[in-house]
Amino acid sequence: MSHIYTSNYHTHTALCHHASGEIRDYAVAAVEAGLTTLGYSCHAPYPFNNGYVSWFRMLPNEAKAYADEINALKEEFRGKLDIKLGYEAEYYPLHFKDLLDLVNSLGCDYIILGQHFVNNEHDGSYSGDAMDGLAHVEPYVRQVTEAMRLGVYSYVAHPDLPPDMGMTDLYLEKMSEICRVSLETDTPLEINILGIQGNRQYPNDAFWKMVGEFGCKTVIGYDAHSPKALLDKDALARAFRMVDEYKLNYVEDITLKRPVLDVK
Ligand SMILES: [Zn+2]
Ligand SMILES: [Zn+2]
Repeated sequence: MSHIYTSNYHTHTALCHHASGEIRDYAVAAVEAGLTTLGYSCHAPYPFNNGYVSWFRMLPNEAKAYADEINALKEEFRGKLDIKLGYEAEYYPLHFKDLLDLVNSLGCDYIILGQHFVNNEHDGSYSGDAMDGLAHVEPYVRQVTEAMRLGVYSYVAHPDLPPDMGMTDLYLEKMSEICRVSLETDTPLEINILGIQGNRQYPNDAFWKMVGEFGCKTVIGYDAHSPKALLDKDALARAFRMVDEYKLNYVEDITLKRPVLDVK
């Protein structure tokens, strides 16, 4: 089956200290790859109010430069590439409101959820760690589903970040809640191309087979940490093979959710 791929919303920049390339180079690569929409979603500038400094994200005082440069690129590429200003942001309950206040004060088109840590990073553990007895899958699922229910995340990046430790049945039983809440909240799930490129534990085939059975909306995200990653058509083809094999409900473009909490 042939597929069209026009929109990537998962793009990093060198500001996060583990990606390379100028911000503009990603837009140039996106045009070369034939994309019509490029969303920047570098690791969010979480304002931790306890002195903790994260090694893999831009600092809060770097957020303005990031937003300014992307806003300038929106103008420069107008008519060629629709550029969106976003962030990949964990849901860290203790700091989430401060994060939204910061990014919205600078303008923000969307956020995607990448729950790299369970709890608040400074008091949590890496979601992708191998854990005996799947110890953190349940808290991970709880946190991801709570985040989806906030209605501010446009999609979930690499939902299958925790490894299944060979306990596939138990893993799927716990992870199925993510599928249920994805449907309930109309939040797409992402097949992550960085995981494909790096032969990581995700995308997890058993998980995606289950996603296909549930019928959750599915997107493909490059999770580009270098401009040339956007040109990797082989990895994209592998993602589309999963779409076909597991009869995934692939959506070529998504509806962005406003990253603003409902004040009820
Ligand atoms: Zn990253
Ligand atoms: Zn990412």
